[in-house]
Amino acid sequence: MVDNAVYMKKVQDEADKILPELKKVKDEIGRNPELGSEEEKSSELLVGLLRGHGFEIEYPFFGMHTAFKAVKKGNESGPVIAICAEYDALPGVGHGCGHNIIGTAGVGAGISVSKLLDELPGEVWVIGTPAEEGHGPYGGSKVRMAEQGVFEGVDVSYMIHPMTGTSMVTGNFLAVSGITMEFKGKTAHAAADAHNGQNALNAAMLTYMAIHANRQQLRRDANPVVHGIVTEGGLASNIIPDKAVLKFGVRSSDDTYIPELVEMVVNSAKGSALATNCELEYTVRAGLKSNLQNDGLEKLFIKIFEALGHEYRDPVAVAKMPPGGSTDFADVTHVVAGIHPMIGLTHKPMAMHSKEFAAVTMTSEGDKGLEVGVKALAMASVELFTNPGTLAEIKDEFESRRIT
Ligand SMILES: [Zn+2]
Ligand SMILES: [Zn+2]
Repeated sequence: MVDNAVYMKKVQDEADKILPELKKVKDEIGRNPELGSEEEKSSELLVGLLRGHGFEIEYPFFGMHTAFKAVKKGNESGPVIAICAEYDALPGVGHGCGHNIIGTAGVGAGISVSKLLDELPGEVWVIGTPAEEGHGPYGGSKVRMAEQGVFEGVDVSYMIHPMTGTSMVTGNFLAVSGITMEFKGKTAHAAADAHNGQNALNAAMLTYMAIHANRQQLRRDANPVVHGIVTEGGLASNIIPDKAVLKFGVRSSDDTYIPELVEMVVNSAKGSALATNCELEYTVRAGLKSNLQNDGLEKLFIKIFEALGHEYRDPVAVAKMPPGGSTDFADVTHVVAGIHPMIGLTHKPMAMHSKEFAAVTMTSEGDKGLEVGVKALAMASVELFTNPGTLAEIKDEFESRRIT
């Protein structure tokens, strides 16, 4: 292994220099949460930082006005590292997923590494990827970016994500698809003329229960999750509803199980529509993949967490845990070697996607998570820029696991 201790130290010093600036931007994004596809101020703040540090910028990027691509090239051609940034918030809970930290950590890492590129070969990119939480027309933007060549020419891509509890060098993420079901019936006076009505809400309720009836028979080895809400169910209790809408999500650690779960939900709706004399229209949203693991990248981040003295969960134990959420970064791991470490901010008991977690991102615990995130991503990049052996191993592993 090449002795890159000097660069490792240097990149951390560069990170320390810009941390005050990064914290300000993190807090400003945190105070002004913007939903996916509407992250105008947030993207502008991040682009402003990158521009101020000499990056070449494309903004808007990829036909999305809140996406960006920032590039800094080294002294000669070499590895290309793409760090992903997210900065969308959630309805009602603001930055309850901590994307204000993701965005600033990604940008901060890119800037820290860029300061070394006068001496090192390669390129660092920071890609601003809108609407990870799925809101608006740019929802899950990384899926399309991965499909449509944004990561072409990239050797490795990564990002960090904050969480509650102790950090993990990698996460297991579920594939997911969304189904919207609209039931159409006929309005009528709920008492006097009920026999002339067709009750769309009843179709929706039956569907909900039919899906529940199927849960017991789901494949437990595939970590299935089925979750849904009623978004429309009538206008007044004295009118038989002519329209009801259900939105469901189905998830699994086995991508090939998703179509079966979708079919179960759709069949539940079809049967219920028939039973209640209603009509059904439905759409299935192509979702996110589960993530492709890379042991080489995992090892690299373990080494870096150790060097930073940052506590992390035993990866063997993590691998045995049932996967939790989903991320559009998982799709990126299918086109380029990638990893998505999770940085624990707090041990206080609280949920992700909550106001409490959004508040933590604005405290000294959030600041510390940002610092660890910036340094971990920057140090990983230094290793890949200075150690061709590590990079080759990671890329070979990716090629051997890749599903083509
Ligand atoms: Zn989230
Ligand atoms: Zn998130």
